[in-house]
Amino acid sequence: MKVVCVGGGPAGLYLSILLKRQDPSHDITVHERDPEGSTYGWGVTYWRELLDRLHEHDPQSARALGEHSVSWHEGVAHLRGLTTRHHGDQGFGIGRHRLLEILAARARALGVRLEYERGITDGAVPDTDLVVAADGVHSALRTRHARHFGTETRTGRNRYAWLGTTKVFDSFTFAFLETGHGWIWCYGYPYGPDRSTCVVECAPETWTGLGLDRAGGADGLALLEELFAGVLDGHRLIGREAADGGAQWSAFRTLTNRTWSRENLVLIGDAAHTTHYSIGAGTTLALEDAVALAGALRAHPVLPQALARYERERRAALLPVQSAARYSAQWYENLPRYVHLPPRQMFALLGQRHSPLLPHVPPRLYYRLDRVAGQSAALRRFKRWLGPKVASGVHTRMLSARTRPEHHGGARFRPWSSRVAD
Ligand SMILES: Cc1cc2nc3c(=O)[nH]c(=O)nc-3n(C[C@H](O)[C@H](O)[C@H](O)COP(=O)(O)OP(=O)(O)OC[C@H]3O[C@@H](n4cnc5c(N)ncnc54)[C@H](O)[C@@H]3O)c2cc1C
Repeated sequence: MKVVCVGGGPAGLYLSILLKRQDPSHDITVHERDPEGSTYGWGVTYWRELLDRLHEHDPQSARALGEHSVSWHEGVAHLRGLTTRHHGDQGFGIGRHRLLEILAARARALGVRLEYERGITDGAVPDTDLVVAADGVHSALRTRHARHFGTETRTGRNRYAWLGTTKVFDSFTFAFLETGHGWIWCYGYPYGPDRSTCVVECAPETWTGLGLDRAGGADGLALLEELFAGVLDGHRLIGREAADGGAQWSAFRTLTNRTWSRENLVLIGDAAHTTHYSIGAGTTLALEDAVALAGALRAHPVLPQALARYERERRAALLPVQSAARYSAQWYENLPRYVHLPPRQMFALLGQRHSPLLPHVPPRLYYRLDRVAGQSAALRRFKRWLGPKVASGVHTRMLSARTRPEHHGGARFRPWSSRVAD
């Protein structure tokens, strides 16, 4: 089979590795528009289950990813001068740059052709059996057929900047600060021996009130460094070259598609779906898409059947994650509802932010119920059952219910600071 992957991010590279491992006679080319070694973003988080799954599919790259990741067991929140710590599940961080370097080296060693600085748009796609649009959230291949794919985007209210820092956090760290223009917060985690990721977020009024919308390059970073000097221990923040070395602010776009394929063109990773960064799942989902697509192509020699199976499988797996991401984004947009709770309660509810029930129950009552539920399996089951029912009831009343309600149910979902409630 001849395959062209457009986009050399995690989705495109990992798919090319899996297909080559399945059948070395496949002819596979990855076209990436940017030069090799240049990528946006800093470190990304993931959890142990991902590493285990990657070991099943390609032990060699999984070993390299594990060796180049750092890990932590604690979540820490700084709020109103108090620090709350919680021992939780082991989380991992790896630099996006290193992740892509490992995947590219492995793909090349297996015989995949990697063509850097080769941007591909629909008109320029070579004649091939399968075209994989792994070209990210702004996918040109998808946009060209946006009506066919039924692409929808919802832009979040808050502004965020994805930054690096020379401060090496020893845990997953949150800091919430009250300013004269509202709250601003950051979350950071290590991803290498000398770097951490630091995501800064605030409401649009706070963003303009603090002048972050106008402060370019070094000035914007200096302002953030001053605000977060405590948690950064005086370390630098690092911005993007594309933004004059400063903070590049965005509003997150949640993207969905009604269908994921068109003839021999299939969407994968962020080109197919995005989930809010506050649940730290996009890279994991992109890699899992690659696993599912490779599996479907192996199981079905007939392309339309393989693509239909891939889409069915991944849509079902995504439902709880998309629901969790939506509630998590809303939690941050409704921060004033939670931020005045005692820090211990606030941190506990931060860990529960993906819950469909939480927006509909007074936060203090939810906290108490959650503590009681923690001691009773029956109550935990009841809470899981009730959440989607309450949420879908409210949605049905409020919306014209174009889509089926999504069930968070009992799915295994790991937010960044999993199980902080105690
Ligand atoms: C602030 C923030 C924090 C995040 N943190 C995490 C986290 O902690 N954990 C996690 O799992 N995920 C995280 N994510 C999400 C994650 O970065 C993405 O979900 C993931 O990169 C998707 O992988 P992908 O391969 O689908 O797309 P991408 O990584 O976007 O790769 C697409 C590639 O296609 C290339 N391309 C685009 N157009 C063309 C073209 N026309 N021709 C050729 N090449 C093209 C691009 O240059 C790019 O290299 C975060 C995202 C954000 C915004």
